[in-house]
Amino acid sequence: MPTVLLSRRVVLGPEASSVGDAALRVVPAAVRLDGSTIARVHELAAGAPFVPEAGDDVVDFGDKLLAPAFINAHTHLALGFLRGLDMRGVTRGNMVEEFYFKVERRVAPEDVRAFTRIGAYDSLLAGVGLVWEHYYAGQEVAEGLADVGLSGVVAPTLQDLSGPGMEAWEAQLEATAAIDDSSRFGGRGVFAALGPHATDTVSAELFGKALDLAEARRLPVHAHLAQSVEEYRRAKARHGATPTAWLERIGVLERSPSNVFAHCIYVDRDDLGRLARSRSASVFCPYSQLVFGFPALVGEWSRAGVPWGLATDCASSNDTMNVQRELRFVAGQRTLGTTWSQEYQGFIAGDPAAAEAAWRRRVGLCAEHEDDAAPSRLLSRVWSEPGKWHPKFRAGVIAPGALANLLVLDLEHPAMWPAHEPLQALAMADTAPAIWAMFVAGRAIGSPGAFHESILRSDEYREAHREARDRLAKLDLTV
Ligand SMILES: [Zn+2]
Repeated sequence: MPTVLLSRRVVLGPEASSVGDAALRVVPAAVRLDGSTIARVHELAAGAPFVPEAGDDVVDFGDKLLAPAFINAHTHLALGFLRGLDMRGVTRGNMVEEFYFKVERRVAPEDVRAFTRIGAYDSLLAGVGLVWEHYYAGQEVAEGLADVGLSGVVAPTLQDLSGPGMEAWEAQLEATAAIDDSSRFGGRGVFAALGPHATDTVSAELFGKALDLAEARRLPVHAHLAQSVEEYRRAKARHGATPTAWLERIGVLERSPSNVFAHCIYVDRDDLGRLARSRSASVFCPYSQLVFGFPALVGEWSRAGVPWGLATDCASSNDTMNVQRELRFVAGQRTLGTTWSQEYQGFIAGDPAAAEAAWRRRVGLCAEHEDDAAPSRLLSRVWSEPGKWHPKFRAGVIAPGALANLLVLDLEHPAMWPAHEPLQALAMADTAPAIWAMFVAGRAIGSPGAFHESILRSDEYREAHREARDRLAKLDLTV
């Protein structure tokens, strides 16, 4: 029986006739599902009833908000087992090389599946319906997502120069193809991507093999790019080029059907031009970058015309998988630069005249970042933007053919009330507690009206938690 979701407040894209960067709209509509995707969207005139077709199973959400589920564009869900560790010592230097690589060698594939499940539950509870995942034992990651019912793009991590995955790149290339071939995964909204780890852990030869598969199967390349000064230094020393220029030289920017590059901290304006001219998008993970490095200057990405999305990265450098919270950091670009400006430093040093100069600086930054802080633009970073990076599916929009990943939000909940502008509230509040119902790849997650409790009390969750806890107890976390 076709399911039709009805609401007086449905978040739809700009009208077809609009031009440029038109804003999202909240309008009455009926959304017809077909398996894992949205078949049709019937926009309704205000007050007009929806006339169902014979056999329709209509679910009427009344005034509750029907919105796309969030997309977290770069995760390593399995690393959630490190949450809550004091990372200050290892983040003084290169956290990835000095800590992760050592601990990750001890993690078995079965551990990856068990820990991924917990990260997947954490994501669903925050309203995330799709993750761009990058990790070792990629097949287990895909299984973990399917176990829980979270959709995702799984990039099995490829390494051949250094890192814990060095011996497994052939198996991980095969896993990529196997995930792509699986109709079971496809029906769950689980897709594949090629996952070269980074420019200093993967050779040009292995990048080439990944590209061959990406081209043959129309899959994206999802990699870390210029995330550390060591990576930047090595590219300069080994290739006489920046990491991004090297990727251009070996054909990644030109050949790949699409590129998704996480972090891009050491990517200068010339390199941003390279990304903007190719089918590349970058991913900003502000709260993670605050821990392992420092936040990239994301306003420059916008100015250069590089498409970009938002992500949490992993729970070991960002102890939440709630990608909605990252939006506030982006909005904060309107003021943040003032803090470290010469003008404000002058004021702190005792120059009272600098107070006015600091405020002028702040007013200027506000104007400069106005577009990136608009609610529709902010939400596009966790909806439509990362939802269009995979050649084989679309997500993050309520539109025909898109994955049926949907949130139903209770605007009367204290976390959202009074939601004068529901989109503004979604961009700036933490609305996870107001989730009333959720659909991922067309399947209902939890029970309507008791979303969080129904998941946490389910036998599936309890069993997943027990297994993860038992496996964690056997892992040695010392380095
Ligand atoms: Zn990462």
